[in-house]
Amino acid sequence: MSDASSGEDLADLELSADTMREMGANVLERCIDHVARLGEAVSCGNVHDIEAIRSARLALPEIGMPIDPLLDRLFGEWIPRSFTTPGPGYFAYVPGGGLYATALADLIAETTNRFVGVWPAAPALAEIEASVIDWIAQWMQFPSAARGLLTSGSSMSTWIAITTARECRLGTRIREGVAYVSRQTHHCVAKALRLAGIAADRVRVVPTDATYRMDLGALRDAIEADRAAGLCPFFAVSTAGSVHFGAVDPMDEVADIAEEYGLWHHVDGAYGGFFHVVPEFRTILRGLPRADSLALDPHKGLFLPYGTGALLVRDGRDLRRVHGASADYLPSNPDDEVYDIASYGPELSRPFRGLRIWLPMMLYGAARFRAAIAEKRSLAVLAHERIAALPNVRVALPPTLSLFAFRIEHPDRSPEDNDRSTRDLIAGVTALGRVMISGCRESGRDFARVCVLSFRSRRTQIEQLVADVAEVAARTGRT
Ligand SMILES: *Cc1c(COP(=O)(O)O)cnc(C)c1O
Repeated sequence: MSDASSGEDLADLELSADTMREMGANVLERCIDHVARLGEAVSCGNVHDIEAIRSARLALPEIGMPIDPLLDRLFGEWIPRSFTTPGPGYFAYVPGGGLYATALADLIAETTNRFVGVWPAAPALAEIEASVIDWIAQWMQFPSAARGLLTSGSSMSTWIAITTARECRLGTRIREGVAYVSRQTHHCVAKALRLAGIAADRVRVVPTDATYRMDLGALRDAIEADRAAGLCPFFAVSTAGSVHFGAVDPMDEVADIAEEYGLWHHVDGAYGGFFHVVPEFRTILRGLPRADSLALDPHKGLFLPYGTGALLVRDGRDLRRVHGASADYLPSNPDDEVYDIASYGPELSRPFRGLRIWLPMMLYGAARFRAAIAEKRSLAVLAHERIAALPNVRVALPPTLSLFAFRIEHPDRSPEDNDRSTRDLIAGVTALGRVMISGCRESGRDFARVCVLSFRSRRTQIEQLVADVAEVAARTGRT
């Protein structure tokens, strides 16, 4: 951008208004063009060409360069070498899409670059973030004493929840504390427990029933056994939509048991929590509003770009008790009632996350989010109906929310052969380039899974998915 020999002031990093406008227009044009072409993009880019991938490792230039060749390589070579996560045919893992309004919100947040870590530095912006948490808490029917935090994702939310529970319930008696998860609990919980100082020998993996929901009798037995051994059961996790099969734990009953034994009940709503926005789905998620803490991923169920997680804690004072801190060099918080973000979580300096949820919410309004979430479930139900009707397909569990898993089962073949056919099906469907699905292994068997949660996935893509699964499944029958 500058040339040392021209006698330019190298330390002046500010751009002229015209340069900013020009660069901005250039970037915007490419982004919009990228979104406009998502429908025709291959559903999974070539992520195996190591040579081309390594080309992204450039040496740091001593003298800066113009933006155009960089954008050419980004948009032309490196971005396409990935799973097309924002594409309409993305049914792998847990989609979301990534609403454009959030990109604009980030542009505003990062060009204005205000400090929202402490309330006095940008009080109105902290209020915006507080209102986003209030909206989410109302959707989840949490009490008015609830407080929360916007995080980078559910892994962080889970770790913050566990640390908070550990500090409030165990204090210095960490080694006595026991946590209860199920066989279907997401692996980020085991990781967060470890990071929070709860060792693996204090984590009980409770079995699940035939529909992959936590076995309540087994949970109760495990708690009783630990109590009898002089340990301190303190934390239980329910999942509102598991990643393998979309199973929803009996949260109401787990809440009863947690209450009876004095456990902190955490709900992992990373994938399924936002289905609670739709009143008709609240019976499926019965008991969710009783959680002591709830992890949510707006980058899944609210269709926002990655890096948007949320945590709600039923009694907001618990979050403050654990994260409250003050320093003599910072402006002090005038009032405990205001939302001083750094007092509710581990970070001090952080991006202004509130805006990336607030802007799309204000632009679309709640009704359109409700409609989109409801539609994703209908589409999954439709996809399930069609795929379950195909020959030699066995569904593990019909969609509770918007995800289901299935496998190829030829009655006259060994389970191992059917595993192979199932893996071939996943690869074959994705290789057709129109939709992408992923798989999972459960009790030693392979399954293909379909998760409908991108706002860009509509009826057309479901028809395509069903057609492609049918085509490839028929092929596996002939080998
Ligand atoms: C995605 C997911 C997580 C992890 O959340 P991140 O936002 O990726 O950190 C945890 N639990 C479930 C059920 C998930 O779907």
